[in-house]
Amino acid sequence: MKFEFADRLQKLPPYLFAELDRLRDAVAARGVDIIDLGVGDPDHGSPAHVVESLCQAAADPANHHYPAYSGMSSFRDTAAQWIKNRFGLTLDPAKEVIALIGSKEGVAHFPLAFVNIGDVVLVPSPAYPVYHASTIMAGGEPVEMPLLKENDFLPDLDAIKPEDLKRAKALVINYPNNPTAATADLDFYKKVVEFCHEHGLILVSDAAYTEMAFDGYQPHSILEVPGAKEVAIEFHSLSKTYNMTGWRIGYAIGNEDLVAGLGKVKSQIDSGAFDVVQQAGITAMTGDQDFVYRNNEMYKGRRDVLVEGLRNLGLDVATPKATFYVWCPCPDGLTSTEFTTRMLEECGVVSTPGNGFGAPGEGYVRFALTVSKGRLQEAVERIAKMGL
Ligand SMILES: *Cc1c(COP(=O)(O)O)cnc(C)c1O
Repeated sequence: MKFEFADRLQKLPPYLFAELDRLRDAVAARGVDIIDLGVGDPDHGSPAHVVESLCQAAADPANHHYPAYSGMSSFRDTAAQWIKNRFGLTLDPAKEVIALIGSKEGVAHFPLAFVNIGDVVLVPSPAYPVYHASTIMAGGEPVEMPLLKENDFLPDLDAIKPEDLKRAKALVINYPNNPTAATADLDFYKKVVEFCHEHGLILVSDAAYTEMAFDGYQPHSILEVPGAKEVAIEFHSLSKTYNMTGWRIGYAIGNEDLVAGLGKVKSQIDSGAFDVVQQAGITAMTGDQDFVYRNNEMYKGRRDVLVEGLRNLGLDVATPKATFYVWCPCPDGLTSTEFTTRMLEECGVVSTPGNGFGAPGEGYVRFALTVSKGRLQEAVERIAKMGL
């Protein structure tokens, strides 16, 4: 028997990183020493006190049952308190907070709650691939808002076509941004909130990187903008902040109807995050936050090595204020794919071609700062020998 994938699946491109892993493995199989700056996954483990808390929680049979659909009330209380401490915002943990099995899960399920067949979702491009894919899986139509250097990698809201806007149900933003490492100030956030009010759009903010910032810069929450809670849902993650990518824990905050819609979808599909993991998440959010500071100091050191090294090769790289990515323009005459492929084949350096995140990413590659300074230095030296 041969079974055809559903149309919605056939419309999806292969998940970018699955493809890249295959190429990397092929080069590694030749015995090449690989420096992997591909996937944005922290190279260090989770904090010891969080691991310990997980073990303790796992030993308690009370935590072995189906979780509450929207998360333990203690987890939601803790998340609300964390948001209050960090952004000065007051949330109702019962209605304006929902636990997620990682923020990707929430971002991916959200369109099922609000997007009808043929509805447009305005998504950034280049971008984390999930906004595009989840729109398609919900039967919607992603319309790309290009993130261009001349606009500081912010979407140009005035450039959205009126006919797309008329059919649009939601608009997605993600700052600090993956893959461009761009940041958004409150002025831009105000503009987007106003725009969504004016056009009746749901505002989806992916805030996975608010805690990964350098040089004293403090990223914002969209909910800091007055009136944002009438239109916005924001996705937060413990993955990058506390080196917990494998644990699958995050949460969404914001408008109570948007949170409720997401909860309704989740109650039919998954049964919530494991209470043991939520317990560990509480420990991460309430414990020693110095961990986050030290992590950022480490990434900052790596950032400086890579940015300086690439600049010495004549590449016009901006110094990112946030995220653990460096968004690097390609050398003259090379496309994103050519530059990535040559670095992989000739240097064993894995990067991600910018166009893999969407066509407007052409002309760039993304490096993730997920190896030591020494290895980054080695990567730069190998690229230098390539003779660009
Ligand atoms: C890493 C990342 C996430 C985090 O996803 P989790 O599911 O919480 O691990 C979300 N959005 C973006 C843009 C990311 O890069």
